[in-house]
Amino acid sequence: MTDYSTLYQQLDQLAVRTEASGGMPAEEIRLLKQSGLLSIVLPGNELDFNDDHMPELLSLLKDVGRSNGAVGRIYEGHINTLFLIHLYATDQQRDWWYNQSGQHQKLFGVWNTDGATGISFAVDHSTVSINGSKGFCSGSSLVDYALIGGKTDQPLAASDWQMVVVPMDQVEEYRIDRNSWKPMGMKASVSHTIDFSGIILDGDAVLGAPGDYLRAPFFLSGAIRFAAVQLGMAEAVYNKTMSFLRSLNRLDDPFQKMRIGKMAMAIHTGQLWIQNAGHEFDRLKGMDEQHERLIAYAHLSRLTVESTCLEVLELSARCVGAKGLMAPGDLERWHRDLSYYLRQPAPDATLQNAAGYLIRTEDGMENCLMQQEETISNKIYS
Ligand SMILES: Cc1cc2nc3c(=O)[nH]c(=O)nc-3n(C[C@H](O)[C@H](O)[C@H](O)COP(=O)(O)OP(=O)(O)OC[C@H]3O[C@@H](n4cnc5c(N)ncnc54)[C@H](O)[C@@H]3O)c2cc1C
Repeated sequence: MTDYSTLYQQLDQLAVRTEASGGMPAEEIRLLKQSGLLSIVLPGNELDFNDDHMPELLSLLKDVGRSNGAVGRIYEGHINTLFLIHLYATDQQRDWWYNQSGQHQKLFGVWNTDGATGISFAVDHSTVSINGSKGFCSGSSLVDYALIGGKTDQPLAASDWQMVVVPMDQVEEYRIDRNSWKPMGMKASVSHTIDFSGIILDGDAVLGAPGDYLRAPFFLSGAIRFAAVQLGMAEAVYNKTMSFLRSLNRLDDPFQKMRIGKMAMAIHTGQLWIQNAGHEFDRLKGMDEQHERLIAYAHLSRLTVESTCLEVLELSARCVGAKGLMAPGDLERWHRDLSYYLRQPAPDATLQNAAGYLIRTEDGMENCLMQQEETISNKIYS
């Protein structure tokens, strides 16, 4: 993989400035565009979606998350959009959007969470009219093309949920509610609420068929991507906790050592799950009869990473104490950012669904999730 360590250092440093100013992460996105990372999954590039690269992609998302959680969130949305285009676009659409990303460094985002009104589409043969608003629009006006989901008036039997890709130059400033975003953390993800009512686009903006967005296994197994960003953020909390303790010469203390060891154990558990989830994704995605297994594995990976991150946050807080969690020291921000970004949809239902799969398949624990010969340890250590 190309070495992006200089970019990561810059993104880390810029986070302090952006948080203090309360502004948009515009410089961060400019650097991201300049780095070439926006097109890394396009045909012929390092992590081409046409080949199997999910472990490497998750590792990259983890690295970006470790440098800057908000940029990690925005970048994950970009990668997710390009993946949906890879899966469901017509050849002509794919050429156009890939060219926008590859040649023109345009940033994409997926905004699926509904605002107060929800989104609906009226589609005729040549246009699509949008009604309603979206919440949690990460990247906001820094995004060039936003994939939004909503109810179409042309449902198929399976679903009425349609994807439409909105060029953000069609979205006037007054539609962006910048006051809607007052979270405890991840402020720089600028996840504003945006009202799309009355926007009319060319029919080419419609991506795929109704129901494609939610199609198994890709929708639910996609949780491994945001989990990778979260895990990278936990690694940053660990690194910054160590730096703080070192600066106070407190690393010889046995209680601090105990907590450092426990943080490392938790993070390594998350790393193994995420790496393995990447391998399982590549191995099982093309096998219809294995999709339930893949989704269950992704669910459990996501929840393990959530537990990892919560444990790291608690141990880090105990390590550094009140002084370590005081602004302008950036551990204070990292704690808020990670705590907030861990709140992802329906965690309880996610565990119920994964447990339901385990119960239905009635396998013993020795082979309930992975085929043993495919385990990560075999891949890494053989
Ligand atoms: C920083 C950040 C950026 C984001 N960016 C984007 C983005 O770019 N695009 C996008 O589409 N989304 C985005 N999101 C939204 C995200 O995908 C989730 O929709 C959101 O975080 C879920 O919030 P929640 O914790 O309130 O979820 P909920 O699912 O409401 O969960 C909250 C709690 O309620 C429980 N619960 C859920 N359903 C029920 C029920 N029916 N009955 C009883 N209990 C229930 C859950 O198990 C959990 O305990 C972003 C979120 C964050 C935090």
